[in-house]
Amino acid sequence: MSTPRSRQTRNDPTQTVGPYGRVRVVVTNYCNLRCRYCFNEGYPSRGRVFASVALIRRRIAELSFRPSGIKLTGGEPFAHPKLEVIAAALEEVAPVTVTTNGMFLGMNFEKLPSTVLVTVSVFGTNSSEFSAYTRRPKHDFDVFERQLHVVRSCPQRFAANVLVRPGSAWQLERYVEYCAARGFRLVRFLTLIGPEKIVPSYLTNLARVRRFFSARGAKASGDDTSVVEIPYGQQRLQLLDQYTDLGEEYLRKFGYVWLGPLGEFYSVTRWSRLKDGGDDMTKGATSR
Ligand code: SF4
Repeated sequence: MSTPRSRQTRNDPTQTVGPYGRVRVVVTNYCNLRCRYCFNEGYPSRGRVFASVALIRRRIAELSFRPSGIKLTGGEPFAHPKLEVIAAALEEVAPVTVTTNGMFLGMNFEKLPSTVLVTVSVFGTNSSEFSAYTRRPKHDFDVFERQLHVVRSCPQRFAANVLVRPGSAWQLERYVEYCAARGFRLVRFLTLIGPEKIVPSYLTNLARVRRFFSARGAKASGDDTSVVEIPYGQQRLQLLDQYTDLGEEYLRKFGYVWLGPLGEFYSVTRWSRLKDGGDDMTKGATSR
């Protein structure tokens, strides 16, 4: 597979990430969903590539820095038949998390090492929202919901990821309630949805989320100042400014580097549309 333009980097990304660098390992580019705002970790969606366990181990060992954390992602990481083997191998290097769409969670969660944390993407609070976002039949939402029984069995190992997105019906509180009812104690709101983030309704929703957090005295969560946090009832809520929003200095200090399923390190080029139109669109959205 040739390197696509979006992933080309002039410098070796493993040399530009600072001591707090985190690595995202794309264990496969295959996913069973077709989300509208997917950017597949900057990796081509075509074809199905599954990483070899030995190759991932070797490439992680070759890093010029010791990662502070390793996130297993995709595509859908649970589609990889040896995810638990990869997770166990990388736990020797750094704390491991898995980010999943949840559709295969129930039958696979128990196989993971008990120290691995799992983040489940929540794409809707009902079948219509889920279907509109994932472009899958509405009954797939029932499949998703059935998988979530494992969250209650071990809530300390789970977080929910909610993407702030365009749409007039989008509501932070509704997602928080949905996640609470299913046992999630940590709910994270993410600012990255892809190039569509310059859509004014997205920026309106993002401004609402930021106001919600700042009105409740949001504080940085640990060293990483891109994450702010508030307590909310029995839950913790976090707001994450994702990598495409961040400046060069931040990226050097905390930035991500990706390891693709063919063993190639890459970083994702920031979207030029953000630089071109972001300011004007931001002003338009926040004045609503
Ligand atoms: S579940 Fe994730 S990887 Fe799969 S299509 Fe949706 S956003 Fe993309």
